Amino acid sequence: MTTSQASLMAENTITPDHAELDVSGASLRVKGKHILAIVAHPDDIDFGGAGSVAKFIKLGAKVSYIILTDGTRGSEDMSISASQLRLMRQEEQRNAGKVVGLTDIYFMDNPDGALQNTPEVQKPVVKIIRQLKPDIVITTDPTYVYDVDTGFINHPDHRNAGQIALDCVFPFARNGRSFPELLEEGHEIHSVETVLINNIAKANFYVDISDYLDIKLEAIKQHVSQYDDFENIKKRMTARAAQLGERIGVKYAEGFVKISSQR
Ligand SMILES: [Zn+2]
Repeated sequence: MTTSQASLMAENTITPDHAELDVSGASLRVKGKHILAIVAHPDDIDFGGAGSVAKFIKLGAKVSYIILTDGTRGSEDMSISASQLRLMRQEEQRNAGKVVGLTDIYFMDNPDGALQNTPEVQKPVVKIIRQLKPDIVITTDPTYVYDVDTGFINHPDHRNAGQIALDCVFPFARNGRSFPELLEEGHEIHSVETVLINNIAKANFYVDISDYLDIKLEAIKQHVSQYDDFENIKKRMTARAAQLGERIGVKYAEGFVKISSQR
């Protein structure tokens, strides 16, 4: 633990309308806020942030998801058709959403495994950002390509989803000259205050999910098409949450890179 993390823990306690604190000591108020997660696949947000989402909702936030792809490459079982898999995974994501208390989910149905950062993909995302006017956007990290230590190679859709989300937050959602037809249709420009990027290696913001790990695991469990051995996933996710928790002196945590336009 670094000195700044230690002093942070000593100086700050979590108040009912605040989430965990970032390493600079600034807190993130979530009560009454609208939070939008923008990710590639059904299950991405549950693995990366369902504990935080459940906590934010409990603290009074409203949370929605945009799932950018149709999830049709997410199974090695070749006996399931793409259209069956699409419906199955949407249903699993809805069930996981119910577990955390989600407001709504937008399925964008871009082809899984081929997500590209194009105006065609961006425009409906910009439209939803302008309609929902989220204060906080959660997404994956466009710069996270691989991890030498674990041998992990990140899925290109996860990188592209992060880039799409960031580009839509800035500049497109707040710039009237981007997709001018949206403005003509009455979708006023909107500035997102804070972006939380799922990257535990570079995290500067942690959410204490000690009371929410069970909910996170229950949300992940809903993605039945995505695992053979849930106990193994449970072990892995619990170990990861404990490892992140250790960084801020709590039992379990999730970690994000926080970018705030108000800092
Ligand atoms: Zn994924």
